[in-house]
Amino acid sequence: MKDDNKNYVKHIISFVIVSIVGLLILNAFIMSALSKTQIKETNYSFFLNQVEAGRVTQVKVESDEIRFEVKDEDGHKQLYSTGKMDDPELVSRLYEKGDIIFTESFKQNSLLISFLVNWILPIIIFMVLWNLLFKGMSKHLGGNALSFGKSNAKIYVKAQTGKTFEDVAGQDEAKEALEEIVDFLHNPNKYADIGADLPKGALLVGPPGTGKTLLAQAVAGEANVPFFSISGSEFVEMFVGMGAAKVRDLFKQANTKAPCIVFIDEIDTIGKKRDGSLGGNDEREQTLNQLLTEMDGFDGKKGVVILAATNRPESLDPALLRPGRFDRRIPAELPDLAGRIAILKVHAKKVKTEDNIDYNAIARATAGASGAELANIINEAALRAVRSGRSLVNQSDLEESVEVVIAGYQRKNAVISQKEKEIIAYHEIGHALVAAKQKDAAPVHKITIIPRTSGALGYTMQVDEDEKFLMTKEEALARIATLTGGRSAEELIFNSCTSGASNDIEQATKLARAMVTRFGMSDGFDMIALETITNQYLGGDASLACSPETAAKIDEEVNAIVKNAHEKAAQILSDNIEKLHELAKFLLEKETITGEEFMEILNKKETLAIE
Ligand code: ADP
Ligand code: MG
Ligand code: ZN
Repeated sequence: MKDDNKNYVKHIISFVIVSIVGLLILNAFIMSALSKTQIKETNYSFFLNQVEAGRVTQVKVESDEIRFEVKDEDGHKQLYSTGKMDDPELVSRLYEKGDIIFTESFKQNSLLISFLVNWILPIIIFMVLWNLLFKGMSKHLGGNALSFGKSNAKIYVKAQTGKTFEDVAGQDEAKEALEEIVDFLHNPNKYADIGADLPKGALLVGPPGTGKTLLAQAVAGEANVPFFSISGSEFVEMFVGMGAAKVRDLFKQANTKAPCIVFIDEIDTIGKKRDGSLGGNDEREQTLNQLLTEMDGFDGKKGVVILAATNRPESLDPALLRPGRFDRRIPAELPDLAGRIAILKVHAKKVKTEDNIDYNAIARATAGASGAELANIINEAALRAVRSGRSLVNQSDLEESVEVVIAGYQRKNAVISQKEKEIIAYHEIGHALVAAKQKDAAPVHKITIIPRTSGALGYTMQVDEDEKFLMTKEEALARIATLTGGRSAEELIFNSCTSGASNDIEQATKLARAMVTRFGMSDGFDMIALETITNQYLGGDASLACSPETAAKIDEEVNAIVKNAHEKAAQILSDNIEKLHELAKFLLEKETITGEEFMEILNKKETLAIE
């Protein structure tokens, strides 16, 4: 926020400078241009000629110049000035002409013009500049600096979002809860008869890309009532009080349209906990206060339902979550296997596919992927089909795009030396072999040493047979051993190690740490929570909740777990060193091998041993 304030000041200073400079330049130009058209300089004989011709209507004789107005045949008036000559007869000559007026000044005309030039024009210029600048500025700030307190909630009615609950695959619990709200808005009497109050607000929470916004759009599609949609960031305004005014305006609109639904996306932007610190964000707090007041203020029976979505529910102000406000929480979790299959199918309907697609296989390979990622996988597959000149998406497109989404595109022309390729092959087979030789590890699905744009030089994909919701201690240990398998193979074969294991190390440490601090799976500690997860839907950062001495002990435990696993992996590999050589050679040759090919070689009877 501090940075934003600095930006405001910077913007305002540059705005003032630009407008002053702009004004000066424009004024100089326009004033001189205008005054030129106003009074033309001419010579004395022209003056005399015009007097003779009777076209001069007014004259003002000053000490060193004569100003006069000429009216030509079309009635067009023009002011002239000329130098003064020593011409004592002039006045009497002019007088003879009769209808020439001797005037003090040319007030009528010049006053109006100079008023325009001096007062109105600068104001107009100023306003134009102001407008332009603020438009640019509000783009920077994401707010609408000029729409003072006007809500720009979009109103959706049925046809406009075009989304219905059919477009949302999985998320059955969320859909059920939302269907109830839609039903209430359709027949409020059914609920009123029994005396039930509908929740005023429902909060959709879940990780990014799980379809929260999509669900709200589907509600709009289903509801058949006006649907106001606004993003939390649209309340964030430049000036204190503007956001609050917007909230007021939004609810005023909603009240007149009741029954209706108001949807506030990314509500954490305005709904963050108010903290006691001085100089907090006044604007945001006022906006939040206004929202709280409005939610209390309207009549629940009238049928205004407020939906909101966030992926940081823990950061929301408790006042927002109390009964009578967002008292209902609708989780939109990452999809399970069935959910992933359903989502893949929903999105696959939009592209042309071959008939025999095995969505189950794709879904199994994408444990932990969100709906948005799955949608992306389908799209990547379609793009790949187009690139290779086919008109239908096939299974291999989908499989490749899973890898693209997980690990990035293939770096086809990366030049890797033979020696390094060999190391990478042994590393990957190390992972795969350790996995295959432990009964608690997931089966190997694919091994590749084609580098990816994510920086991975190769990887081993493991896919569980079934959806797993729990992880046993044995599985966790097997996983860590598998992760250390790559490095172990390098050590065993090349007697040295490379930087290629950094990602493995990171993952192994994370898992081992979680075992100690959160899962109670270590020998040294009992069921003690030593870490708490702070934002579960966004990466899940852990924060320590223990003394420094304990922290040191945690590190020891983590190290012990990883060390054990590493030793175990090294043992497995040296027990199977022939297979390691054979598989690595095979991988080096083929670059990509499937789980079946891998298992076939692994389970092949040692021909040498029989002979
Ligand atoms: P968020 O939860 O971050 O608001 P969105 O609703 O914006 O996520 O989802 C992004 C995209 O992901 C959607 O437009 C849709 O294509 C896809 N998607 C996510 N969840 C689902 C789902 N359950 N069914 C179908 N598509 C989904
Ligand atoms: Mg969203
Ligand atoms: Zn590795």
